Amino acid sequence: MPDIFDQASDLESREREAAISVAAGRSHWTGPPPDVVCGIHCCAECGEPIPVARLAAIPGVGLCVDCAE
Ligand SMILES: [Zn+2]
Repeated sequence: MPDIFDQASDLESREREAAISVAAGRSHWTGPPPDVVCGIHCCAECGEPIPVARLAAIPGVGLCVDCAE
């Protein structure tokens, strides 16, 4: 059974690291600003609406997940 507990705590620490990196990513957007159309923030590259969750995680983000990679 110890393997299961190891995996669980490993997953937990990875999720915590991800949450920390999201928090650290705040105010670190250095790319292009989004195109704002009718109050909707759209990707500056492809024009797709940027998900609200992504905007909340990275204020001022101007690219969708696909174009930011
Ligand atoms: Zn895009």
